[in-house]
Amino acid sequence: MKLDDPRLFRQYAYIDGKWTHGDAGREEAVIDPATNETLGHIPLLEPEQIRAAVDAADAAFVQWRALRADERCERLLAWYDLLQAHREDLAYIMTREQGKPLPDARGEVEYGASFIRWFAEEGKRTFGQTIPSHIPNAALGTLKEPVGVAALITPWNFPLAMITRKAAAAMAAGCTVVVKPAGETPFSALALAELAERAGIPAGVFNVVLGDAPMVSEVLCKEERVKALSFTGSTPVGRLLLEQSAGTVKRVSLELGGNAPFIVGPDVDPKEAAYAAVAAKFQTAGQDCLAANRILVHESVHDEFVAHFAERMQAFTVGNGLDGEVDLGPLIHRRAVDKAAAIVDDALSRGATLVHGDQSAAPGENFFMPVLLTEVTADMKVWREENFAPVAGITRYSTDDEVIEMANDTEYGLSAYIFTHDIRRIWKIMRALKNGMVAINTVKMTGPPIPFGGVKQSGLGREGGTAGIEEYLETKYYCLGGL
Ligand code: NAD
Repeated sequence: MKLDDPRLFRQYAYIDGKWTHGDAGREEAVIDPATNETLGHIPLLEPEQIRAAVDAADAAFVQWRALRADERCERLLAWYDLLQAHREDLAYIMTREQGKPLPDARGEVEYGASFIRWFAEEGKRTFGQTIPSHIPNAALGTLKEPVGVAALITPWNFPLAMITRKAAAAMAAGCTVVVKPAGETPFSALALAELAERAGIPAGVFNVVLGDAPMVSEVLCKEERVKALSFTGSTPVGRLLLEQSAGTVKRVSLELGGNAPFIVGPDVDPKEAAYAAVAAKFQTAGQDCLAANRILVHESVHDEFVAHFAERMQAFTVGNGLDGEVDLGPLIHRRAVDKAAAIVDDALSRGATLVHGDQSAAPGENFFMPVLLTEVTADMKVWREENFAPVAGITRYSTDDEVIEMANDTEYGLSAYIFTHDIRRIWKIMRALKNGMVAINTVKMTGPPIPFGGVKQSGLGREGGTAGIEEYLETKYYCLGGL
């Protein structure tokens, strides 16, 4: 790794303020998906070491929660400043391990850091309530208290921001954390740990554990002392972790998969809407839970929309995210390429039309050239599954009622997009959609103050905003009698 500050590249776990090997000496290689080059190795910890991280977080909780909110805020702001100061190195690490273009990685560092700043301040506003008393001679109210140790299990598509969105909220609330990043992208998490230490965040407050994912997750879910589990990842793994957490009745927050509809009304400028849909589909090479998977276009503008969409795709450059003007990097590994190819084959075998996408032009084995399919129908995998690849599917519709039914025809309910200027249509469709988030005439909707999350099989709970910090707070009611 070519870094200005080489100490940001750590190949150890981080437990109780110490850089740690695996007790059994087991290691795993981390691969650059653009080149298949080995970037480094990470230790695979043993179950006892995962429990040791929980011990450390549990012990550190006593002092961390006892700090005043403004003292925790200062340390979190120091961490934020360090992320900003090391933005280039953090972006470089991210591009090497994840594959996304360097400008996108810089954007993610900015986005990830913004959660730390926002929650640092929000930690000072975890107000309780005064309740007008119905009991004679008593004062009633509530306090907000941190739940305790939080286990944070995160995916590889946003290796930094998915950690800070959870950790900043938890730590600002007074909780300590044990982070398990995805094995594909551990180095961003470890760089965050290095910067947390430099920011004066005490040992044991922010821990990073690495190892065999099912084992690590099971230990964390079944640990009595872990009081909150926050997971971002796929729906099947989320369901498993929910089951594994049942025995210890902990807080569980799940940010799971999406299969976003992108609804285009009859009254829009087809070019503007098509360019917006391209932006909403191909971010992070389609490996984004908000990706516009099912693009539903009114029949009156369908053909023009498709022409502009395809024309915009012609301009894409696919390649190594470190190379200047690249729009799409590789997929995370070869399995993801094979899955994307199978989804396209399935659609074509069921009658979809391939408008754009030539895999012979792929610059390496982990790359998948962006694909546009039309005449997509509900029996196809490209409709039913979260494809997590640069595969866009377009379907035409004729009435608002029809498009509402189509949009809701999925087990997922994370985000949705609506493009139309008719206020009555907007209101009707927005209210009828079974999604946690709806973007109207824009594709930019995320950021620290918003309650990010889904309904149906897309998850439980919200991240970001005032709802995000509540996930890490208990409400303690008091009744002070004898007054
Ligand atoms: P994943 O479920 O495979 O992995 C997520 C985390 O769980 C990783 O840390 C992984 O190591 C761990 N894990 C994997 N298999 C496990 C198992 N059997 N038992 C326990 N832990 C296991 O997901 P991914 O492929 O890393 O990420 C992609 C998924 O994440 C997509 O479904 C995407 O929609 C979702 N996602 C959701 C959001 C959101 O905010 N809703 C954001 C980003 C990604």
